[in-house]
Amino acid sequence: MMERSSVEIFDENYRQIKERISAAAVKSGRKPQDITLLAATKTVDADVINHAIKSGIEYIGENRVQEFLSKEPYYLPVHKHFIGHLQTNKVKDIIGKVELIHSVDSLHLAREIAKQSIKRGITSKVLVEINVGGEDNKYGFSPEAAAQAVSDIALMQGICVRGLMAIPPVCEAPQENIKFFEIMRKLFIDITAQKIDNSNIDILSMGMSDDFESAIECGATMVRLGTALFGKRNYTNK
Ligand SMILES: *Cc1c(COP(=O)(O)O)cnc(C)c1O
Repeated sequence: MMERSSVEIFDENYRQIKERISAAAVKSGRKPQDITLLAATKTVDADVINHAIKSGIEYIGENRVQEFLSKEPYYLPVHKHFIGHLQTNKVKDIIGKVELIHSVDSLHLAREIAKQSIKRGITSKVLVEINVGGEDNKYGFSPEAAAQAVSDIALMQGICVRGLMAIPPVCEAPQENIKFFEIMRKLFIDITAQKIDNSNIDILSMGMSDDFESAIECGATMVRLGTALFGKRNYTNK
């Protein structure tokens, strides 16, 4: 049997994923174009990413600074996001090169993003990461601390808060995730309604390959898909 190439795998997956996103959007009373598909491109070669971009992918997200910096010069024009845990000492390497940082998981990190942004005379757009399952091994603010974190970060010069991001616990049954997505939906609605000064909240980034349809049905405006688009990764890199 001939092995399928990465490009063939992508082409087949992408067609199906677009249909599934559209169906989930319609099911929840929204339009397919209200959902942004972000391709999570960790471990994917730049040439495959460029094929994806030529095929219609408009947003990509990397989750390691080193990997981002090594691939970024080769990317065709695309919206570049950072979606992984960001160490404070690496902020200066990516600031201004990515359009949105999904993973602001502490005030300490937010302060460094603010500082580096001011230095460069730019405003960095960020999402506040919520540890929605209260897991010890995950980064982010607790759901209870979310509103305060958003207002504290929104006050920092050089930063614009655009919304929330979450990676719910790995659940055995896809249905179990819904309760975490529901918590996020409620938080997002509450925080948007508070009209926090200096924030412009319209992005709810949640849903990955195994659960993006539930996430969309619970109000996600952006889903981050890796495996579902590019196939299984060669090595684990979470
Ligand atoms: C890898 C990754 C994804 C995509 O995961 P898949 O299960 O492969 O779709 C989404 N978000 C973040 C933060 C990631 O690191």
